[in-house]
Amino acid sequence: MLWKCTVCGLIYEGDSAPEKCPKCGAPASKFTSLSKEEADKIYAADRTNDLLMEVEYYAAKIAKLSEEGLEIGLDPGCIASFTGANRRAWDIKQSCKAEIAIHVGKEKF
Ligand SMILES: [Zn+2]
Repeated sequence: MLWKCTVCGLIYEGDSAPEKCPKCGAPASKFTSLSKEEADKIYAADRTNDLLMEVEYYAAKIAKLSEEGLEIGLDPGCIASFTGANRRAWDIKQSCKAEIAIHVGKEKF
């Protein structure tokens, strides 16, 4: 069962609300229980946000690898490949971050 702190928005997982909010210290009476439908949405958003962060992590790795490849600059084909990979990695990173920001704005986290 999920509980939401009405003071700070923290989502708590447990059979009952916590004695004190782990984030802001509000008492249990400030928690409201979430419906199964609301809880399912939060679990789906939680997993989706984790996936977006992982994709962002790998895109950052691609960007770093591409920069090393560009530093070596073996030949024009390599430079073109690494330049393209670096650009696409940037787009993937920014797209993931923008989507996470939208989720946070809509309380999908
Ligand atoms: Zn709180």
